[in-house]
Amino acid sequence: MSGRAQSRPNYEEMNFNLDNITRENVKGLSPYSSARDEYVSDGSTMVFLDANENPFENGVNRYPDPQQRALKAILAEQKGIKEENILLGNGSDEVLDLLFRAFCEPKEDNIITLPPTYGMYKVLSGINLVENREVLLTDAFQPNVSAIKERIDGNTKLLFICSPNNPTGNSFSTRSIEDLLKSFTGLVVIDEAYIDFSLEESWTSKLAKYPNLIITQTLSKAYGMAGIRLGICLASAEIIAVINKIKPPYNVNQLTQERAIQRVSDEKSVQAEVATILEERAKLINTLETVSFVSKIYPTDANFILAKVDNATLRYNQLLKKGIVVRNRTTQPLCENTLRFTVGTSKENNIVITALKALSNEYGK
Ligand SMILES: *Cc1c(COP(=O)(O)O)cnc(C)c1O
Repeated sequence: MSGRAQSRPNYEEMNFNLDNITRENVKGLSPYSSARDEYVSDGSTMVFLDANENPFENGVNRYPDPQQRALKAILAEQKGIKEENILLGNGSDEVLDLLFRAFCEPKEDNIITLPPTYGMYKVLSGINLVENREVLLTDAFQPNVSAIKERIDGNTKLLFICSPNNPTGNSFSTRSIEDLLKSFTGLVVIDEAYIDFSLEESWTSKLAKYPNLIITQTLSKAYGMAGIRLGICLASAEIIAVINKIKPPYNVNQLTQERAIQRVSDEKSVQAEVATILEERAKLINTLETVSFVSKIYPTDANFILAKVDNATLRYNQLLKKGIVVRNRTTQPLCENTLRFTVGTSKENNIVITALKALSNEYGK
């Protein structure tokens, strides 16, 4: 290819090729074949003596389905995709770790992250010995597309895009994300942990269009199931097959599968809770706007609000004294003197509102 000789390749001319970006050792693997992979019950009564389980029924004496078929069937229908486009993990944190292990060669490859953003991408790059190239968001908290392209080289495997972004709360522009999806020949990972709070559409409908697109979602936020640890990875069947080769066979336990099925089957409850959280968010924003020491409230598409204050550490400690724990984000780039407020229940938010008003009055004097 003529582009090879140039100092920087012309990404528009390059094509995504999954084989080129998968680690050599992973290409050669075949997944561990568990007893539950080799024989799947067809529903008829069978005697299962193949997995050295204790036969006495207690609800969890059997190994869970390593492919979580019942749960995936519901998710596939709700999201308008196929089961072969879904991989589930022990939280999205496990899914993200699997991406590193499938595609990033330690000490050789690199990833790109866009601070201020979710801290786990950096933590995982450290654990997996993969260089983390940080490209700051713009002042409007949007991806700096030209700066990102400058940092991409032949060893850049993953680009993490968190939209809506944590801790800023905003969604990234569709045009910027599309530009990156079209030009980057590695994998674009869009973390949609907060998508259910957003009016923006999920990127799920674009999976067929972009072979290098990976979407992660979670039951930890809008679905109210942080305790069961259920993360979702959506991608082409080819990408999912690669990750399936390296995932621990029973990474999603029986209790999690059961509780997740119950919860995702009850879409109405989830939607009602999300609607309430959005109303409560508006209420909190209204109050923050009147607080004397709050200088800026950033636009949010998530279940939290980032606000700039006069002195984040002082205000954090004052709230703590009143029994309210928020997140001090002052050490994050572009987030000096910011606090992140998660939206709570109406009762919890009223406590916060009372506390903020009291502190605001003291300051005003
Ligand atoms: C909370 C959060 C997650 C959720 O991680 P889980 O491991 O699924 O609980 C993922 N990404 C972002 C950006 C988050 O804020």
